[in-house]
Amino acid sequence: MAPLFYVVPMDPVPILGAGLAGSEAALQLARAGVPVVLHEMRPLVPTPAHQTDHAAELVCSNSLGSKLPDRAAGVLQAELVALDCQLLPIAKQNAVPAGAALAVDRDRFGAAVTARLQADPLIQLVRGEVKTIPTGPCIVATGPLTSEALATDIQQLAAAENLSFFDAIAPVVVAESLDCSIIFSAARWGKGEADYLNIPLNKEEYAQFVKSLLAAKTHRLKDFEAADPRAPQFFERCLPIEVLAARGHDALRFGPMRPVGLDDPRTGRWPWAVIQMRRENAAGTLYNLVGFQTNLRYGEQEKLLRSLPGMKNAEFVRLGSMHRNTFLNSPKLLTANLEFRRRQALFFAGQITGMEGYLGNIGSGLVAARNLVRRLLQLSPEPLPRTTLLGALTHHVAESPAKNFQPMKAEFGILPPLVPPVKKGQRRAAYAARSAAHIAEFRHNQDSDLASPSPS
Ligand SMILES: Cc1cc2nc3c(=O)[nH]c(=O)nc-3n(C[C@H](O)[C@H](O)[C@H](O)COP(=O)(O)OP(=O)(O)OC[C@H]3O[C@@H](n4cnc5c(N)ncnc54)[C@H](O)[C@@H]3O)c2cc1C
Repeated sequence: MAPLFYVVPMDPVPILGAGLAGSEAALQLARAGVPVVLHEMRPLVPTPAHQTDHAAELVCSNSLGSKLPDRAAGVLQAELVALDCQLLPIAKQNAVPAGAALAVDRDRFGAAVTARLQADPLIQLVRGEVKTIPTGPCIVATGPLTSEALATDIQQLAAAENLSFFDAIAPVVVAESLDCSIIFSAARWGKGEADYLNIPLNKEEYAQFVKSLLAAKTHRLKDFEAADPRAPQFFERCLPIEVLAARGHDALRFGPMRPVGLDDPRTGRWPWAVIQMRRENAAGTLYNLVGFQTNLRYGEQEKLLRSLPGMKNAEFVRLGSMHRNTFLNSPKLLTANLEFRRRQALFFAGQITGMEGYLGNIGSGLVAARNLVRRLLQLSPEPLPRTTLLGALTHHVAESPAKNFQPMKAEFGILPPLVPPVKKGQRRAAYAARSAAHIAEFRHNQDSDLASPSPS
C-alpha cells in the first residue's frame, strides 16, 4: 500500500513489543511513510503466557468481542475502522464462526500479522529483548508481561511507585444505576466533602452477605501468577474480600466495611457495616467499591453485589479481578495522546498504559502512532473526542484520579452522559450514533491538518 504521507527521511523509530499495540503502531507508522524497527523479545526470551513467536499473539480468549453495532465492542470496532486500523481487517480475514462475536483463529491471525509486518519494506522486525528505553521518538508497547530489565528502566523513568506488577481491581459501577434513596453520600466523621457513596447494611444483611461471599466460587490465579511474590494476595493491605471474610465473621466489618463515623440519614445512626464507593472518573459518572478487590467469578460477583441494599439495578463497567499486569500510573505520567508528559515524542501503548481488552489495546497503538506522526510533522498531538469509546479510554487513563488507578476496558459507562438524556432502552444506539458522528469529524479534521501541516 502506498504511504499516505511522506515524512522527511529519518532514522527508524523504535517500537518495543510486537504485541497487539506494537504491531498496530508499526503498521500505522509505515503507512505514514515512517521507517520502524519493531523489537520483539520472543522467542529468544519467552513470557509466561505467550506460546508462539507470532506478533499480535492473543494470549487467552480468541474473541475480540461483539460485532453488534450497539455494543461497546461493536462501537469500538466501528471507530477503529473509521481510523483505518490495520489489524482489524486481518482479524476479520481470519475470523471463525462465533455468532455475534468477532472471534479469530489465533494461529492464523498471529501468522498473518507477522507476515504483513515482515512484508512491509519500512518495517524491520528484530528479535531480542530491549532492556532500556531508547532515546528519541519511540513507542513502548511491551504489555502486561514486560520483561524485568525493561520494567526496571521504566521504573527509573516513571518513579518506582508509578509502575505496578499486579492489578487488584475492585468492581466499578455506573452512578446513575444506584438507588440513592438507600445509598447515601457522606464523609467519615463528616470531615471534608461528602465525596463517598455509602451502601448501608444492617446486622442481618451483613451476615447474609458474608455467608454468600464465602459460598461463592472464585477464579484461580494462573500458576505463574500465584507463585509471584508481588501478587496482591501476599499483601495485607490488598487482600481479596473473600480471603478477608474467611478469617472471621467480623473481619470485613473491621476492615473495608467499617461503618464508624458514617451516619445513615435514614436512621441517624451508623449502620452495622458499610461499603464505601469512591469516584472512579473525573466526571463522577463511575464509582469503585473501595477495598473490594476480589477474585470471585464474574456471574457470582454480579449476583452478590446486586443483592446489596440500593444495588438491585447496579450496572457494572467492570468487575473485580486480580492479574499479573505491568502498568503505569498513567494519570500521573501520560497525556490523553498517550505521550509521556515529561518527554516529548515518547509514547506508551497497549496494556501498559492501563487499558484493557484486545480491541482497546489495538486502538491504543493506533493512537500512539498517529500522534507520533504528528510530532514528526511538528504538529501538536490531538486527543480523540471523549464521546468516542477509544477517546474515553485514553482520557480515562490520562485523567482518572491517580490514587489507586486501575486498568479499564471500553464500556459505555466510561462515556460522558448523553445530552439531552436518552431513555435506557435507546441509550446504546445513541452512544453509537454520537461516536460515529464525532469520529468522522475528528478524522476529517486530522486529514486536513496532515494534508497541509503547519507547525504547532
Ligand atoms: C495471561 C493474560 C491473559 C489475557 N487474556 C485476555 C483476554 O482473554 N481478552 C482480552 O481482551 N485481554 C486479555 N488480556 C489482556 C490484554 O488485552 C492482552 O494482554 C493484550 O495482548 C495486550 O496487548 P499489548 O500489545 O499491550 O501486549 P502484548 O500483546 O502482551 O504484547 C507485548 C509484547 O512485548 C513483548 N516484550 C515484552 N518485554 C519486551 C522487551 N523488553 N523487549 C522486547 N519485547 C518485549 C512481549 O513478548 C509481547 O509480545 C490478557 C492478559 C494476560 C497477561
